[in-house]
Amino acid sequence: MRNACQSCGMPLKRDPHGGGSHADGSRSSDYCSHCYVDGEFAQPDFTAEEMRALCIENLTAGGVPKIMARLLTKSIPRLKRWSAK
Ligand SMILES: [Zn+2]
Repeated sequence: MRNACQSCGMPLKRDPHGGGSHADGSRSSDYCSHCYVDGEFAQPDFTAEEMRALCIENLTAGGVPKIMARLLTKSIPRLKRWSAK
């Protein structure tokens, strides 16, 4: 998946900030502004499954049907942040 957050799978073009931020203030091209702020993960202790559950929660809260939310988040465990471990 290119140009998608490598933590939550959200397309970076849908990120209002255009990506997360490194400690020096530069933009991250790997992570979105929800997951990665000032060089640190917003949820440093999350597992891929916990991240997926959070994303499903956020999507359904935004009006996405649960079955769609499950589909959209299916590839989260294969993203860079989770597969590196
Ligand atoms: Zn993200």
